[in-house]
Amino acid sequence: MTAQLIDGKGFADNLLDTFRKQVDQRVAAGKRPPGLAVILVGEVAASAIYVRNKQKACDRAGVKSVLHHLDAGISQTELLNLIEQLNNDPEIDGILVQLPLPSGIDSEAIIESIRPDKDVDGFHPYNVGRLALRLPTLRPCTPFGVMQLLENVHGDLKGKHAVIVGASNIVGRPMSLELLLAGCTVTTTHRFTRDLPQHVGQADIVVVAVGKPGIVRGEWIKPGATVIDVGINRLDDGRICGDVDFVAAAERAAYISPVPGGVGPMTVATLLANTMTAVQQHDPL
Ligand code: NAD
Repeated sequence: MTAQLIDGKGFADNLLDTFRKQVDQRVAAGKRPPGLAVILVGEVAASAIYVRNKQKACDRAGVKSVLHHLDAGISQTELLNLIEQLNNDPEIDGILVQLPLPSGIDSEAIIESIRPDKDVDGFHPYNVGRLALRLPTLRPCTPFGVMQLLENVHGDLKGKHAVIVGASNIVGRPMSLELLLAGCTVTTTHRFTRDLPQHVGQADIVVVAVGKPGIVRGEWIKPGATVIDVGINRLDDGRICGDVDFVAAAERAAYISPVPGGVGPMTVATLLANTMTAVQQHDPL
C-alpha cells in the first residue's frame, strides 16, 4: 500500500472532545446543554446500530439525547404530532428521524415537517437549498464530514477535479454542492452514467457512495488521487466493507479513507457539529 490512510475516527474523536469542552463551558456559565431528539421507528437492525452510535457520541460530547423508539405500526399523523411537539420544545435543539421509515410513511413529508433550524441531519429542502445557493446553515452530515476530511488533507480544494459516484439526496447530491462550493470542478455520476471508469480516471478526488462492494476498481484510480469511500456494506461473513476495491486503490491513491473508521464516524461527529450550531442559535452563550 502506498496511500496514506485518512483517519476519520481519530478526526471525529477530536471533534467530539472539542464539543465536550464547549458544552462544559455552556453549563459552567449556567446554560443548558444542547438537546437532541432521536426518533427511531420499528426494528431495523442497522438503524438501531446507527442510533446507538449517535447516542454514544452525544454522551461523549455532553449533548443530552432523548430517544423516541416508536412501534413500526405508528401512523404518519402520530409521527407528525410528535415532531410538532419537539419543534416547540425549547430544550430540544435538533431533531433526527432515523431513515428508512416504514413503507406506509411519506419520508419527504416527515423531513419537511421538521423546523429547519432543528434539522440537524441537514435534509430539509430549506437547508439543501441554502447549500445550493452558497449560504450553508445546517449542512447534510455525511458530505460535510467528507469536506472536513478533504480540507484537512489538502487545505484549499479550488480547481481540483472531483468525481462523485452516486447521486442520492443524502450523500451524492449534497456532496456535489459542497465540492462546488469549495471551488472544485465537479462531475456527478449515477446509475445512468456511461463509462464510469473513464470518469473516475480523471479525478483528483473521488467520492464513492453507491452501496455496492467493489463498484470502483483500484486500476481506475488516477495515480496520486484522493479516494473517499462512503459505502457501508455488510458481507456474508459479517465483515463491513466500502464500495471501493481498497487494496488495489491504495496502491495508486495518495490518500484513501478506510471502511470502517473513515467517513462513518465523521457523519456522527458532524451531526453533533450541527447540534452545536443549533444550540448556539437557540440559546447563545
Ligand atoms: P442510494 O441507494 O440512495 O443511492 C445510490 C446511488 O448510487 C444512486 O444515486 C445511484 O444512481 C447510484 N448508482 C447505482 N449504481 C451505479 C453505478 N453502476 N454507477 C454509478 N452510480 C450508481 O444510497 P445512499 O443512501 O446514497 O448510500 C450509498 C452508500 O453509502 C450505502 O452503502 C450507504 O450505506 C452508505 N452511507 C454511508 C454513510 C456514512 O456515514 N458513511 C452515510 C450514508 C450512506
